[in-house]
Amino acid sequence: MSKEGSLGAPIRHPIDFEHPDFLNPEKLDAEMRRVFDICHGCRRCFNLCDSFPKLFDMIDESKNEDVESLSSDQFAPVVDACTLCDMCFMTKCPYVPPHDFDLDFPHLMLRYRTAQKKLGKLPSVPTQLAQIDRNAKIGVMFSKIINWASNIKNKLIRKILELIAGIDKRVQLPKYNSETFSNFF
Ligand code: SF4
Ligand code: SF4
Repeated sequence: MSKEGSLGAPIRHPIDFEHPDFLNPEKLDAEMRRVFDICHGCRRCFNLCDSFPKLFDMIDESKNEDVESLSSDQFAPVVDACTLCDMCFMTKCPYVPPHDFDLDFPHLMLRYRTAQKKLGKLPSVPTQLAQIDRNAKIGVMFSKIINWASNIKNKLIRKILELIAGIDKRVQLPKYNSETFSNFF
């Protein structure tokens, strides 16, 4: 049996997209609850990102202050808040493989998102923002106006952007350049 707190590097198993249980809603729900319950008992990642505080607040505010009291439709905000930075897996979690708990929180978030995509339930704003090739073409064409609009000093537009897209008005957004490397040559 693998013990908690090993000095070895975590072992990451590839995501088994082909497994018949991968998108099975009941199996996915059971796995979410299994992992959330372990995290609830551990709470080491309380300050790593926005996902864990959302999860722990929800549990603390639930009827019996446990994962069983959560409804499955409460899971989505926890997944939405995960940026897949991988910090919980790489630096914090004592229950990653080879531990018997076999816990990989970021991979579970990916599994949930894959299921959301299949059901057409992915949140629309992040889905649109993730269309990098399309957005970059628009950004290059209208770089001046987009850079002006997204500038942190443009308080009114940034406030509107925050309300519509959930992008914090204090965050520096990348600038577009009208002349790309390939255009230059
Ligand atoms: S991978 Fe997701 S859940 Fe883990 S620390 Fe990063 S944002 Fe948080
Ligand atoms: S991911 Fe691991 S370390 Fe982080 S709260 Fe869950 S069980 Fe604890």
